[in-house]
Amino acid sequence: MKSSTNLDANASHGLLPYVKEQMIAAGFDYLNPSSIHSGGQRARIIVEESRHEVSKLLGLTDGERVVFTSGATEANNSVVFCRYLDPKISDAVKKSESFIVTSELEHPSILEPCNKLAELGVGVKFAKPNRAGQIKCDEFYNLVDQDTRLVSLMYANNETGNIFPIAQIAHEISRNYSAALIHTDAVQSVGRIDFDFSELGVDLMSISGHKLGALTGVGALIIRAGLEIEPLLYGGPQEKRSRAGTENVLGIASLGYAARWLSENKVTQISKLKINRDKVKSSLLNNFSDVEFNTHEASIPNTLNVRIPGIKSHDLVVALDLVGVCLSSGAACASGKPGASHVLLAMGLDQEQASESIRISVKADYEPEELEHAIDKLVTCITRMKDVR
Ligand code: PLP
Repeated sequence: MKSSTNLDANASHGLLPYVKEQMIAAGFDYLNPSSIHSGGQRARIIVEESRHEVSKLLGLTDGERVVFTSGATEANNSVVFCRYLDPKISDAVKKSESFIVTSELEHPSILEPCNKLAELGVGVKFAKPNRAGQIKCDEFYNLVDQDTRLVSLMYANNETGNIFPIAQIAHEISRNYSAALIHTDAVQSVGRIDFDFSELGVDLMSISGHKLGALTGVGALIIRAGLEIEPLLYGGPQEKRSRAGTENVLGIASLGYAARWLSENKVTQISKLKINRDKVKSSLLNNFSDVEFNTHEASIPNTLNVRIPGIKSHDLVVALDLVGVCLSSGAACASGKPGASHVLLAMGLDQEQASESIRISVKADYEPEELEHAIDKLVTCITRMKDVR
């Protein structure tokens, strides 16, 4: 089957060519990294080399740790549940209104565990964005108090690409409320913003392999130096008892290769992403005077969320798929279901406006002319759909 052009990189990037090459060269057959025989030790070396590459990409310094997980969903769930599972925190504090503070714009892998805890009587507050999709530092900060034990705010939103002031928020909160752990979901920021973990000032950070050009089913939780959290999974002593379960060596290897490639190429990658995103944006603006962007200036360089009045995003996604272009009518996890995006609704768009919004998220590298052809198809499909209205 001929492969499609991926304008849906926020859903999954696909393997980077470098990652594919390295995986083929290294092979696919690994034994258990906890075994002391040479087969196990070969797997152990791969896992530790990958940890080193991920640490390097994220600028980790002494004591800051990479705990491999099955993806960002697991990393995010681990974070949300760790304070609830902590026996040192009293039930009274867990039930206080602001025990967890997060935002309405988070990925479901934060929102759903928070909703589950709320059902169990735990206090959770959700910050609201403004109409531009921004979360203002002072408004977020005002939700936090002395009972807050966890703050979770994503670095960049997966549907709009909008960036949030996590470093500023982390700085304010850690200065005044030292009992609160601060977490950021940086899934859509790694490789798209040039940053180091330490400069964010957070305690915990989630990343996902398949958004970076590694395999699906692998990710990591980054933990600041000296911090121990209650694990979500109990079992063997893997990952220094932070995450039980035999390591996904192949997935971890792919994440290490992607991290190595990004460490060397992220600056060029970021500028290519911007060039590609701007090509899409200017074509839309040149051809359609009525488009409205749900992505504002402070955003990751590869994402555009755009409303095309009168056109149902679901119909456009299907029409483009038929001509070999993948994009999305919302987050991948939500777009298979009817109903508008929770992110756009939280920003104040109505059901109709949200259902007319698409997400275009580009990669840095395409085959020659591939992106231009995809843009032509996008413009042609929109024009035809407007004509038949
Ligand atoms: N967080 C964000 C912002 C995401 O975009 C995603 C995936 O779409 C996730 C978390 C979940 O990542 P994973 O697929 O690795 O579980």
